[in-house]
Amino acid sequence: MTSVRAYLDWNASAPLRREARSAAVAALKATGNPSSVHAEGRRARALIEEAREQVAALVGAKPAEVVFTSGATEANNWALAAGWDSILLSEMEHDSVLAPARACGAEIYSIPISSDGVACVDGLALRDAGRRLATLQLANNETGVLQPVAKLATIARAAGAVAHTDAAQAVGRVAVDFAALGVDLMSISSHKIGGPKGAGALIVREGTEIAPYMRGGGQERRWRAGTENVVAIAGFGAAAQAALADVANAQRLALKRDLLERSLERLTPDLVVVGRKVARLPNTTCAALPGRQAETLVIKLDLGGVAVSAGSACSSGKVAESHVLKAMGLAPDIVRSAVRISLGPTTSARDIQRLLEVWGEFGAARALEKRARSSDVPGVRHNDGRISEGV
Ligand code: PMP
Repeated sequence: MTSVRAYLDWNASAPLRREARSAAVAALKATGNPSSVHAEGRRARALIEEAREQVAALVGAKPAEVVFTSGATEANNWALAAGWDSILLSEMEHDSVLAPARACGAEIYSIPISSDGVACVDGLALRDAGRRLATLQLANNETGVLQPVAKLATIARAAGAVAHTDAAQAVGRVAVDFAALGVDLMSISSHKIGGPKGAGALIVREGTEIAPYMRGGGQERRWRAGTENVVAIAGFGAAAQAALADVANAQRLALKRDLLERSLERLTPDLVVVGRKVARLPNTTCAALPGRQAETLVIKLDLGGVAVSAGSACSSGKVAESHVLKAMGLAPDIVRSAVRISLGPTTSARDIQRLLEVWGEFGAARALEKRARSSDVPGVRHNDGRISEGV
């Protein structure tokens, strides 16, 4: 990436932190298998255990509750596929929650969602038979809206059900306290906090009844077999430690984001910021320009040197209409035109300036369209809908 580009897609993946890179590079030199008893094995084991402590400290869990996985997708699959008879979930969940929930044969029932993108858990009652799971993300990846997970956990636990949260987007951006949330299971991801891709964890409260996900060797206290990804885990730990400072500076990032939203609004007065009235992550703006196509906006921004996403980045590289915004019941015009701008602690004034310069062109095009519609200005409408100034 050249220095003139502005990377504003931190919710898709955060840039690798310097500390994480150093830890991962150092771990590449660890020859031993962490399960081996010799000195080389013990050295690799020590790297994993240090990372376990660092990750636990970031999320308010005990080190023994941290089970390393290949990412939040695996952690979610593990939590969701654990032989539930019924699963209570929100339709705004990440696909790595929705897909295993739908595939596992459990009865699914949904939590209502407000038009601001908040799950409405007040007054919810759980079915009272069988093995039941209630799951709710801590922050939505597209809107950044924070969800009432602690309330849902209280309801679930009072009913004797297991509570899970997908905290992949919240961790490192806002303070997350596993113990205080009251959930039994929590999924997190390394690359969302500036660690290497391909590591994550399921935090499993002591005493939670859940079967191992991968069987084989006795790694991860028999929860998850397979030789650990020492390099990625060491980087994850270092990133977790560094992320503590970002959590402390969340308010500063939120001010930057709010300023950005006001600037976008000045350039395009018809801008809709989804979830603006409710508590959100400090770094996320879900911005819609009704009448436009999100995919086109993303491509134009990319050509202008700015990386953002439309809906959630999906593995095929295609932009699918956001199931999150649809679940919120938003107008099709908003769903079709929403782009996600997500910042990070090292987002610079120059990055924001670059975005505003390109965004300004959307505003200018809008003004031109307006003038073309009023008959006194000779705008020219082309066959493809483009409008250029008349001569
Ligand atoms: N949950 C949420 C809310 C996410 O945003 C993501 C990543 N897009 C995941 C889970 C999956 O995480 P990973 O990339 O670590 O598998």
